[in-house]
Amino acid sequence: MISETIVDMICPSDPGDPCADPANFGTGDCEIVEPEIDLDPLIKNLCDGLSEAQKTIIQNTVNSLKDYDCATKYMYNHFVNNNKSFNFCISPGQGSGTYSPTTKTFNFTSDVAAGNMYVVEHEFIHAFQDDSHPGGTGQYGIINSNPNAGFVDIEFEQAVMNDMINYGSTIAFDLSGATQAQRDAYLLWIKQVTTNGTSYPKLNPNGTATEIAAYNTFMSSYNSFLSAYNAIPGNTNHSAALNLSPQALIKLFNNINKNCP
Ligand SMILES: [Zn+2]
Repeated sequence: MISETIVDMICPSDPGDPCADPANFGTGDCEIVEPEIDLDPLIKNLCDGLSEAQKTIIQNTVNSLKDYDCATKYMYNHFVNNNKSFNFCISPGQGSGTYSPTTKTFNFTSDVAAGNMYVVEHEFIHAFQDDSHPGGTGQYGIINSNPNAGFVDIEFEQAVMNDMINYGSTIAFDLSGATQAQRDAYLLWIKQVTTNGTSYPKLNPNGTATEIAAYNTFMSSYNSFLSAYNAIPGNTNHSAALNLSPQALIKLFNNINKNCP
């Protein structure tokens, strides 16, 4: 999509305007300034150096989050209603994209990645985790290429959320080091807890005796898959595990259904 560049001429108001002469454009009082574009409330800042086309990609992407699926819709509204906004960049980096809990910045490594809603949803879930876990997820990040304890908890929670939202294209155990038996067992569990992809688990660790029992059953499977995931040979998300309560997963799925208004 081609975006129009909007330019304002700042010119002195006296008659015989020197700025009327194109030869004076860009000099003295005839500077061309770009007006502030109306940014979506989710966007705090667009990185310096983005082309107009890249700014348009990001704005379209942010617009799509509003109704891509019930999960992105809920997370988008949650952030905007709580006055949370983020920086958006397109620049070289790791993988297709990253979310930094330290700077609250999404970085996409190509224009294609910035426009790919599957990639964007992945990073958006990381931002929701940062918002849902007490103290944020920065404490579970990678420092000097060493993942802190809890890094695997965050990545596994993200993968499970993704696999429930995008039922039918699971990723958690798609690593080459995982066995087919592990994949099958994980898929069966996802199938069970989502009623074949038609619902999301509703979990209440502080609810009635029945609800607490259901939560404990869910968590015992969840933690056993977390351990298996963490032990997959070559898993780059491996770290010491903290068996954190999956607070982002619980919060998101308690608030959404497969279909949303
Ligand atoms: Zn990730």
